[in-house]
Amino acid sequence: MANRKNVYICVFDTFSIGLGPSSSHTVGPMRAAKHFFQYSRKKFDAQKKADISERKSTNQNFSDSANLYFTIELYGSLAATSIGHGVTNSVLAGLEGDDPALVDPEYVKSLTDNTADNSVLNHKIILKPNVKIHPSHTNAMRFFAYSDKQKKNLIAERDYFSIGGGAVLYREKSRDLYREKSGELVNIAKPVLRNKELPFVTMTDALRLCEEKGITLWQLAKEYELENYSADELEAGLKKIWEVMRESVEEGLKKDGILPGGLNVPRRAKSVFERLIKEAQQGKNIGNQKLMAYALAVAEQNADGQRVVTAPTNGSAGVIPAVLYTWVRDQEAMDVPLSQIEKGIGRFLLTANIICSIIRTYASIAGAEVGCQGEIGSASSMAAAGLTELYGGSSKQIENAAEIALEHHLGLTCDPIKGLVQIPCIERNAISARTAVSAAQLAMCSQGSHLVSLDKTIITMNETGKDMNEKYRETALGGLAKNFTTC
Ligand code: SF4
Repeated sequence: MANRKNVYICVFDTFSIGLGPSSSHTVGPMRAAKHFFQYSRKKFDAQKKADISERKSTNQNFSDSANLYFTIELYGSLAATSIGHGVTNSVLAGLEGDDPALVDPEYVKSLTDNTADNSVLNHKIILKPNVKIHPSHTNAMRFFAYSDKQKKNLIAERDYFSIGGGAVLYREKSRDLYREKSGELVNIAKPVLRNKELPFVTMTDALRLCEEKGITLWQLAKEYELENYSADELEAGLKKIWEVMRESVEEGLKKDGILPGGLNVPRRAKSVFERLIKEAQQGKNIGNQKLMAYALAVAEQNADGQRVVTAPTNGSAGVIPAVLYTWVRDQEAMDVPLSQIEKGIGRFLLTANIICSIIRTYASIAGAEVGCQGEIGSASSMAAAGLTELYGGSSKQIENAAEIALEHHLGLTCDPIKGLVQIPCIERNAISARTAVSAAQLAMCSQGSHLVSLDKTIITMNETGKDMNEKYRETALGGLAKNFTTC
């Protein structure tokens, strides 16, 4: 692969606990706003201290740092879908210091009604959507903090980029890039996880390493994770991810009603699930159709702004939980001990994360950068890989499954109607979950040798995304978003 790069591996970065409806438009902006709030408070306190020592008297120009005034400029896709994707409420919550993994989703939803023009949020915070593209990134935000209502005394200014999956970068004068990790922004100009013993930069390398060392892909992934986390931390973290995924499936299956946003999309997971149960009771063969209900359940929870895990993004959050939940239920039905099921979940997630890490390095998981192939295509590819591991597939078969699933999402555009993560997103999760299962099954039918490698497919996805007209990259300006009008 040309331009080989270090692969950044962190399972908790890929599977990050947050809330709907969009990882790059909800989770990322909330993290960015929280970080900027903390940053501007520090700058404010430093400026206040310097001013006081210079004057040797109480500073009259500063009010309390709780009285900072903010202006936030949104660019490109963040501006175009600011209301539908809940950017507004996320920024507000972040400026209050809320964390996407912990905040009550209902509280975030209550901050504004998210249907009106909320560009002037209140006298302290002004949000300015600006659909022009930021020179550095399509999902860009520029934050300004002032110490006065007239906004004459600028305390801090910073650009943030929401790069997908809830990850955030910011650019300082040094031009170093940062990514959030466990609540901190970490400089990724120097990769955080770099195992010199395991120089792994492409899937081809990963396969070679597995063969040389006689290990599987999940074991390779684990070796990287253990550079940053203890075995206990890793195990507990993987368990927590699954807990939230499982809850999102089960909660979603219980709810009905109309999803927010004004498109009047009804929740369907519950009725689909109930119908399938009934058909099964009548002796009909329902195959693996419940998988679709599980995927719909999570995607609907996401569209409703509820707690979900980015997998790898919010728009595609239903694929992996659906595939994994189906497997877990099958194991439970066969009375497989819980400890064994938990080990399987860990193997699945670590394998899936290897695929995501390579995609992120050489392409993108953000709809705003490469269209839906990067979101739902990546999720399907990751799920196919994880499931093949659970089927007992070899590393080559896992690579083959991931490639099959990704290949058949190439060219998929992002055109959410009204900028809401509902149509086509919700159904797309159900369809792509089934594609993932088919890809895993197909890969298990051969020994893993095939013509097009996963590495090449990832490069192809990146090039296709770059060639894709901007209106098909999460701007809600083309495709279904353009041709569907509500009266
Ligand atoms: S169309 Fe795909 S990429 Fe776009 S918002 Fe929906 S799920 Fe995400």
